[in-house]
Amino acid sequence: MNSRRNFLFKLAVSASAPVALGGRLLAQDAPPPVKLEETDPVAMALGYKMDTTKVDAVKYPQHTAEQKCSVCALVTPGSPAGEFVPCSAFQNKLVASNGWCMAFAKKPEPPKP
Ligand code: SF4
Repeated sequence: MNSRRNFLFKLAVSASAPVALGGRLLAQDAPPPVKLEETDPVAMALGYKMDTTKVDAVKYPQHTAEQKCSVCALVTPGSPAGEFVPCSAFQNKLVASNGWCMAFAKKPEPPKP
């Protein structure tokens, strides 16, 4: 009985080790986050500005002062708030929390208790 338990324990450890090691290697190999530049061709096509107050109101009449990346639904879910946040519209490149682009979609309000 005891040797069977030992065998199962060793089997579980040996089976999980490559997964754990692989996860660590992947985490170490992940490239550092890249900031989206306003000069990026896709950013230019979507009118991305790092400062929402600098958006051209004539070119983007749908823009309002309250619209900014920090309240956009396209910020990668679960990412921590900060000066820059990853945006799923730009392959998780970091965008300015105070930025804006024409893909803006307001985050839904959290459900009321
Ligand atoms: S999609 Fe949203 S979070 Fe991403 S750059 Fe545009 S406004 Fe900002």
